[in-house]
Amino acid sequence: MARIVMKFGGTSMAGTERIRRVARIVQRQQAAGHEVAVVVSAMAGETDRLVNFCREANPAFDPAEYDVVVASGEQVTSGLLALTLQALGCKARSWLGWQLPVATSDAYARARIETIDSAALLASMAAGEIAVIPGFQGVSHEGRITTLGRGGSDTSAVAVAAAVQADRCDIYTDVDGVYTTDPRIVAKARKLARVTYEEMLELASVGAKVLQTRSVSLAMKEGVRVQVLSSFIDDDAPPADSLPGTLIVSDEEVEGSKVERQLITGIAHDKNEARIVLTRVPDKPGAVAHIFSPLAAAGINVDMIIQNVSKDRGETDVTFTVPRADLARSMALLEGQQEEIGFNRVLSDAHVAKISVVGVGMKSHAGVASTMFKALADRGINIQAISTSEIKVSVLIDEDETELAVRVLHTAYGLDAVDAAV
Ligand code: ADP
Ligand code: ASP
Ligand code: MG
Repeated sequence: MARIVMKFGGTSMAGTERIRRVARIVQRQQAAGHEVAVVVSAMAGETDRLVNFCREANPAFDPAEYDVVVASGEQVTSGLLALTLQALGCKARSWLGWQLPVATSDAYARARIETIDSAALLASMAAGEIAVIPGFQGVSHEGRITTLGRGGSDTSAVAVAAAVQADRCDIYTDVDGVYTTDPRIVAKARKLARVTYEEMLELASVGAKVLQTRSVSLAMKEGVRVQVLSSFIDDDAPPADSLPGTLIVSDEEVEGSKVERQLITGIAHDKNEARIVLTRVPDKPGAVAHIFSPLAAAGINVDMIIQNVSKDRGETDVTFTVPRADLARSMALLEGQQEEIGFNRVLSDAHVAKISVVGVGMKSHAGVASTMFKALADRGINIQAISTSEIKVSVLIDEDETELAVRVLHTAYGLDAVDAAV
């Protein structure tokens, strides 16, 4: 017997029929002899709808009240799944964030889980009851409802799995695993049997939205075995215990498997950044600090940075990226600091995309970046900025060339599936 936490995303929970399919998957998992807890997302599109209501009510909304509104989507689906399980003859009940409780920080709209009291859950599971938990929500120190940031139900599921010391956390979604790139963009993407925490963390953080980044760092920290798999399956599909999806596990476990290691694990894209260029910044100590200190103080995350030194003029151009949602705020801050920083002009472009290749193989292989630059150059794709880490190379390009760049790189690194339809 094992203890399994199952998480179902928004597409899987969208409507009565789909919830019934989910309930059957849960019922089968319990019938296989396991203790089961389920974490659910709101129905697809519901959180967006609720966010829009908040914006309409008050564009400068109070995040604590925003959380009251947006957390409601998961309350609905957790109750509906419990009802549907009961209709199938299962014992089931919902546990809202404040009832367990899932204790979080007070950072409304982007709260972090601090602790989960597992006592009630363990007792419920041991009694053969299926515990249904709304993802995305928790309760702050002052007893108000919080949410964990978009995509946060993945993190709820991993946190519950860690709290109940689950044998596995199965993340059910609308694709049957983690692929070498978004399978909705590249038909020749290949499903990966296993991915290391480190690689998945990097892939998620550069835009592979199949898992929320924080859920992967938590799984890595707590050693939670995660499987990504599809909920769109027939009743006679192979059981989750036979590991039909993608396992996200430690380096040692991947090394020990028979899966052939590729140099590059995957390619991701991110259209959520914008580029800012400051021209003719004085080339002297402290100039760059003058640019980035006000942005940091405003909580704006700067990602890629390049500085083009022009020796003859004693001036440089500084290019960097910020989240698109923070572009207007960043521009206003920089314009207000023109005299202190001493730049000539500030330009911005939101029509950009960041393309990243990720793989632990890079640690021991040279030439990964040059393959990328050459493949893009051969297609006439211009690179506007570059950044690297030990296991990742990212480039910034024109947004219109996103799909082309991902496809070209997928082929250049030999990742294309042989048998897929083109
Ligand atoms: P859920 O609603 O279940 O949380 P998401 O929409 O958040 O689902 O994540 C699943 C989606 O992630 C897929 O439909 C797919 O388009 C996208 N995706 C992006 N990159 C990848 C990848 N490398 N492998 C699999 N899916 C990916
Ligand atoms: N419903 C929330 C969202 O759409 C959380 C989640 O589904 O993971 O962001
Ligand atoms: Mg998701």
